Amino acid sequence: MEEQLVAITLHRIAGQKVCGVVTLTRQPDRSWSGKCGKCGEEFRVEPDARFEGRVRAMRN
Ligand SMILES: [Zn+2]
Repeated sequence: MEEQLVAITLHRIAGQKVCGVVTLTRQPDRSWSGKCGKCGEEFRVEPDARFEGRVRAMRN
């Protein structure tokens, strides 16, 4: 069974004010999806090697 990867990011409004914490889980197609814990807005990150590199760096 493949390990479930989780990434944490922040929902920022207008590039400055932080709304809430977004927990992203990796989907079978290697994209990421999750919701802002405060406002519930849905997030989706397309498969992105740079983003994935940051996630791996966070785990080390
Ligand atoms: Zn939000």
